[in-house]
Amino acid sequence: MLINKLFDTAIIGGGVAGTSLLFTLARYTDIKNIILFEKYDEVSQLNSNPNANSQTLHVGDIESNYTYEKAQTVKRSSSMVANYIQNFSEVDRVGFKKDKMLLAVGEEEVAKLKERYVEFKTLYPYLELWDEEFLATFEPKLVEGRKEPILAMGARDQITTVDYKKLSESFVQQALDTDKNIQMRYNEEVVKIKREEDGTFTIISDTTSFRVKSVVVNAGAYSLLFAQSMGYGKEYAILPIGGSFFFTKEKLLNSKVYTMQNPKLPFAAIHADPDMTQGWNTRFGPTAFALPKLERYHELHLKDLISALNIDKDVTKVYTNLFKDKTIRQYILKNVLEEMPLVGKEVFIHDAQKVIPSLNVKDLKFAEGYGGMRPQIIDKKKQELMLGEAKIEEDGLIFNMTPSPGATSSLAIALQDARSVCKYLGKAFDMEKHENEIQTLQTEELNVLESEAAEVAIA
Ligand SMILES: Cc1cc2nc3c(=O)[nH]c(=O)nc-3n(C[C@H](O)[C@H](O)[C@H](O)COP(=O)(O)OP(=O)(O)OC[C@H]3O[C@@H](n4cnc5c(N)ncnc54)[C@H](O)[C@@H]3O)c2cc1C
Repeated sequence: MLINKLFDTAIIGGGVAGTSLLFTLARYTDIKNIILFEKYDEVSQLNSNPNANSQTLHVGDIESNYTYEKAQTVKRSSSMVANYIQNFSEVDRVGFKKDKMLLAVGEEEVAKLKERYVEFKTLYPYLELWDEEFLATFEPKLVEGRKEPILAMGARDQITTVDYKKLSESFVQQALDTDKNIQMRYNEEVVKIKREEDGTFTIISDTTSFRVKSVVVNAGAYSLLFAQSMGYGKEYAILPIGGSFFFTKEKLLNSKVYTMQNPKLPFAAIHADPDMTQGWNTRFGPTAFALPKLERYHELHLKDLISALNIDKDVTKVYTNLFKDKTIRQYILKNVLEEMPLVGKEVFIHDAQKVIPSLNVKDLKFAEGYGGMRPQIIDKKKQELMLGEAKIEEDGLIFNMTPSPGATSSLAIALQDARSVCKYLGKAFDMEKHENEIQTLQTEELNVLESEAAEVAIA
């Protein structure tokens, strides 16, 4: 077995999380030698693939499962991806500008949406309220055959849709275009990370081994398994939650349409999205159901699954608590039925009809080969299901677990990790350059701010 030259940083995992860090380290730091391991033959074959996720840039403006505080964070994180797309000329190739809205159905939801609009307009000044009359011409399918009152809070011409695989490829290209020594190790599965006595690490893959000074693991559910194999993160377990989609046979909507969240449910309400992989035909989903797999549509490694589930009395308590709640129990059952070949569409149609009332079962098709796995983290100490990202950081080692909206947050997480790695290695981070290229406000936001300033000046 060959021990190669000493690298400054190894990144394990070539999804959007790993590649965004590669780009950030290569472009904004003076770190010279970086190596990235990806076990498949291309970047973003798993959750960061457009077939696996909802292709949404989560800005927080139409996601009613976010609190105001969560929306503030997501707004900042998403603006980094939007700025990258605009500043690195990736509009209409990686990121697409479309209209989007949050749709309220029925009097109760409409009242809640009005309240949310007042609150959220302070954070997203561009938001508009769209009534039924407006929607009848703007998105007629939302209104046709509808009995209940509706109202939408929406925005026009925003980067709403991102191909996170193309974004990953773009990150890699930008990194390779720098003068740094970047090694991309495709088809190479890391099997072990070992801390050496001198403080460096040995990364052992299925074919060779490398010595590195620092390691960041962005390997989806496997990040936790690597951490635990080194004695960290024992307080966490993974609940693997699958998400599937349904296609329609034609393009029924031009905008992304999100629906109002049932606050009792842990996963986001379904939405309707124009799908970039299907000629912008409408795609509904995702569903949310527990599936005993760590990687959707890939071989099941039972030993890994058992380690990830990490079942003990604390984890069992979390499952029992979830099942105790009637709303969650019914939701779990519904989502299981939606996966079943004959009944799936019959059950799902009710959710889809909330968005398009005239939709028929025959208009829907289970999106075969689409969907991914969210590695939801269970905090065993708190006996709680955590809904966002999780990070374990120890001297020279970082392990990231990134369920939704991990793709949207990728550049923000990369910024945090790149700064930590620089601190650990005694290297410099060029914050001014990063601020100019990545942290700038989006053009639309600047326009709104400028027009508001002008209005104030006129008044
Ligand atoms: C149904 C669904 C819908 C979603 N919708 C959205 C959305 O609309 N917007 C959004 O922002 N987020 C969304 N998400 C979340 C988003 O997809 C993820 O947060 C994001 O893709 C995570 O990126 P990642 O790079 O961490 O993981 P991944 O893309 O899964 O990449 C991990 C990589 O690590 C590699 N790897 C693993 N183990 C090893 C090893 N031992 N050696 C080498 N390589 C290894 C894998 O091959 C893989 O390429 C969704 C998720 C799901 C499941």
